[in-house]
Amino acid sequence: MEGYHSPQVEVRVRLNTNESPFPPPPAWRDAFAAELSRVEWHRYPDRSARALREGIGALHGVGPEHVFAANGSNEVLQTLLLTFAGPGRTVATFEPTYQLHGHIARLTGATVVEGERAADFTLDPAELQRVVAAAQPTVTFLCSPNNPTGLEEPAELVRTALGSVPGLLVVDEAYGQFASWSAASLLDEATPLVVTRTFSKTWSMAAARLGYLLGPAWLVAELEKVTLPYHLDAAKQIAGRLALRFAGEMEARVHAIVAERDRLATAMRSMDVDVFPSGANFLLFRPRRRSGREVWQGLVDRSVLVRDCSSWPRLDNCLRITVGTPEENDLFLSALAEVV
Ligand code: PMP
Repeated sequence: MEGYHSPQVEVRVRLNTNESPFPPPPAWRDAFAAELSRVEWHRYPDRSARALREGIGALHGVGPEHVFAANGSNEVLQTLLLTFAGPGRTVATFEPTYQLHGHIARLTGATVVEGERAADFTLDPAELQRVVAAAQPTVTFLCSPNNPTGLEEPAELVRTALGSVPGLLVVDEAYGQFASWSAASLLDEATPLVVTRTFSKTWSMAAARLGYLLGPAWLVAELEKVTLPYHLDAAKQIAGRLALRFAGEMEARVHAIVAERDRLATAMRSMDVDVFPSGANFLLFRPRRRSGREVWQGLVDRSVLVRDCSSWPRLDNCLRITVGTPEENDLFLSALAEVV
């Protein structure tokens, strides 16, 4: 098997991994340092991470029994697939999408069935229904906004999926805060739906490795049987719990990033590139006159790194840029104007 890679190159402007361009607020750092100094390091942490899960639940108006947290949303996805996939079972994805959905599913021994998106990367509900009727997947993935395309899935499509899938529907909302709606509004105890989220993007905490899902309490209880004891260390529980006190600052960052995303898209559309609509903190684009690889190299030569998706299946010549600070975005725009 191939592993999952995200090549790094030494550059001045790094816009390739969809992180937040802003560090967390200094007050969060201070509060974190103060609480860390009081940790009883000789004891195991709270195994159920109760306070953290209560805080996350409160953010979404649900109790802690509806929240499962893990070391990044990647680990949430892994725990879901260890619980519900495996040999003899099928997992459905709609390509192109986040590569780890299929990758982790294969690692568990499951068969992955890939549905196809249209040329504009939208997903036809008829294609979704065709794939789930034929493959009868135990787990079906949607990603909204979708990585790497940036498109949001319409609420109607998620409702259609819920009416069609025979098993669990996972909506990966790693970029959910940048989008216009959330599938969390469709959650209830009787619906086999989970929504996954992360602290890596909006919360400016990619280094902390913290993600979670919202879902039915019975499902969270199943995941707790599968995850390792004490999988969330004391420092991470503190980091996440304290971050929740800064929801207002995070909201302001989301607005700033969305405004910059729209400014970038407008500026790029005046150049020789096609830009796909995005509800996330990144934009997928395709140069019209030069190859994606040439443009990627031209940007690296100007010390700007974006994600090269140009050789990925179904993404011919596409590149993905993460929204940075206004200064980083200006440097990217002037480099792009020269290169294309
Ligand atoms: N889902 C999607 C769609 C992502 O793009 C990412 C980050 N690349 C993740 C999940 C994983 O994020 P993390 O493990 O940092 O929470």
